[in-house]
Amino acid sequence: MSTPVVSPHADAPAIGDTRLLIDGDRVDAAEGATFDVFNPATGELLAKVAEARAEDVDRAVKAARRAFESGPWRDMKPAERARVIWKLGDLLLENAAELGGLETLDNGKPFLQAKGGDVPAAAGLFHYMSGWATKLEGSTIPISFPGTFHTYTKREALGVVGLIVPWNFPLTIAAWKVAPALAAGNTIVLKPSEVTPLTALRLGELALEAGIPEGVLNVVPGFGADAGAALTAHPDVDKVSFTGSTTTGRTIMRAAEGNIKKLTLELGGKSPDIIFGDANLEAAIQGASDGIFYNQGEACAAGSRIYAHRSVYDEVVAGLSKAAEAIKVGDGFDPDSFIGPLVSKQHHEKVTGYVDLGREEGTVASGGTYAKDGGYFVTPTVFTNVTDESRVVREEIFGPVVSVLPFDDTDEVIRRANDTRYGLTAGVWTESMSTAHKMADALKAGTVWVNCYGVFDAAMPFGGYKESGWGREMGGIVLDDYTESKTVCIKVGD
Ligand code: NDP
Repeated sequence: MSTPVVSPHADAPAIGDTRLLIDGDRVDAAEGATFDVFNPATGELLAKVAEARAEDVDRAVKAARRAFESGPWRDMKPAERARVIWKLGDLLLENAAELGGLETLDNGKPFLQAKGGDVPAAAGLFHYMSGWATKLEGSTIPISFPGTFHTYTKREALGVVGLIVPWNFPLTIAAWKVAPALAAGNTIVLKPSEVTPLTALRLGELALEAGIPEGVLNVVPGFGADAGAALTAHPDVDKVSFTGSTTTGRTIMRAAEGNIKKLTLELGGKSPDIIFGDANLEAAIQGASDGIFYNQGEACAAGSRIYAHRSVYDEVVAGLSKAAEAIKVGDGFDPDSFIGPLVSKQHHEKVTGYVDLGREEGTVASGGTYAKDGGYFVTPTVFTNVTDESRVVREEIFGPVVSVLPFDDTDEVIRRANDTRYGLTAGVWTESMSTAHKMADALKAGTVWVNCYGVFDAAMPFGGYKESGWGREMGGIVLDDYTESKTVCIKVGD
């Protein structure tokens, strides 16, 4: 059996059962394999977790298929399904300290942010989506033969959905996908990142406690190249929703071709955050700082390219550098830490490689240092004197690293902001309503924030233009991606 390793923090929760969750049971992997999970604040072993491989994924898909076809969830009264999903949201809030603590141990992010941000956001998804269980309506359609046909549409669950979740917001992004999938009556195989599997396993337990029938939510931690690939290629999985890198998104598109799976892809970003000369600079600088440094910059929506109008450029660089220097970097259980360690050794190597590259491509205005051993820490880093062609400006770094570039006029900054293969989010800071509307229209991004950054809500659709992905998460619109529309045409006259 996979055995939890004793948690290293006095305030940290117990790790709990680290076996797979299939058909309502906690089980070891078929081959008995486990993998190691590390605490990114120390680099030390945190837990050994059962490692799902293709055979386990198949077992989970079969359980999900049985649960779907036998109908305890799909055929449950919608109001009852809504009640159970709501209850799961309540259980997340009741267990916020434990879930937040697991997230800090596993991902490194500050405990206060995990408990006060990630967990309530996840709970909010279940509370919001529970309302949709009773509102999945079709429509009646007046076709061209009056009195002859009665035609209507209805919405039905897709079947078995595979949900593949990354390590940056493990619980919250799982909730983005699990909550609408449940509301629509689907059954689920959830594969968390092997770097951060702990909260997904606990979510599966809490789902059972809420009354979600066995086999409806199966959780199979494992490696992307093995468990993830098996799930995306499985012929009995009807849909895959994936959040992660654009490179892996492409691999998943190819794997899904076998049975023409439906796909939702939420991929990378290199989001522009644009500060005009008339902006409230105090708010803009703090907002831009939070927009890049929150969650260690490990966010697909991070505002990693800041364009500041030349008239305020020096002030923005000075203010941002000051904000960066004021940020406390440290162990996530220290209540003063605003930034914890990066998630893994591998990711630390990637981000610090970009920090070194930025030194060559431009100038360090602030930060630029990082831990060489122990935990995977990087100080918030601000680069100037880079160009639109610099790699640190073009490539997704996914760490607390930002470039600040000057601009002179509106059309120029629109062109430069859109000059990227990504199109996930954008920020605009201005006191002019006409500039705000012009920018909101012109920016090629799935979300545009004006005089704010990083505002998320279960009711707000989120997703990308261009290579940032396909489909949307959250909001009522996401239910389209978890249901089929069936057209029924009945002859009622001659
Ligand atoms: P990946 O895209 O490789 O991983 C995301 C998820 O996909 C994980 O659960 C991973 O499993 C799984 N996965 C990996 N390969 C496959 C596959 N062939 N088939 C199915 N699932 C697969 O991201 P990384 O963790 O490697 O991070 C690399 C970069 O991706 C980051 O530096 C960042 O730029 C970007 N990223 C973007 C995110 C976003 O929110 N859009 C989130 C995370 C990363 P496993 O972890 O077990 O390999």
